Amino acid sequence: MKINSPQALILLKEGNARFVSGNLAPKDHYAEDRLKLSSGQHPFAVVLCCSDSRVAPEILFDQQLGDLFVIRNAGNVVDDDVLGSIEYAVEHLGSPLVVVLGHSSCGAVTATCQGGELPGHIVDIAKRIRPSVSSNCCIDDNARRHAEHMAQLVRENPIVEHLKVTVVGAFYNLASGVVEWM
Ligand SMILES: [Zn+2]
Repeated sequence: MKINSPQALILLKEGNARFVSGNLAPKDHYAEDRLKLSSGQHPFAVVLCCSDSRVAPEILFDQQLGDLFVIRNAGNVVDDDVLGSIEYAVEHLGSPLVVVLGHSSCGAVTATCQGGELPGHIVDIAKRIRPSVSSNCCIDDNARRHAEHMAQLVRENPIVEHLKVTVVGAFYNLASGVVEWM
């Protein structure tokens, strides 16, 4: 059965509610799933999120193998490689939903907000976060703004637009486990 974007969003919201309550879906069928998925994948959502070790989408959305097409980098920034991965997922795998997930206490957003000299290639990440950042906002509000700004960049992608894929910004709270939707 093909899942549409409203259904995909509900699956993520329900999964996050299970994660927050600790009432997780069973995880004892990996062998069966591996076999079933070896012939192909139909992930119902694409998730772009930070590489932060505390922000693991399959865990915080309580999903299974094959459910999520995950793209991660420090600061959940959108660049050409990320857009290429998203285009692949929506066009070839048929994912109807893209989520750009920021999170609280994000190191990449914090470093960008603090300004100053950044070493090596971190400067390239900060360059993509800086346009979202306002000096009037706290780190977490800037992370929210940045996630929404990255979601807008994904929405403007011609393939995403053409396929009428839904793109939503979201924000994960490290302490509570709750995902806020924008
Ligand atoms: Zn982060």
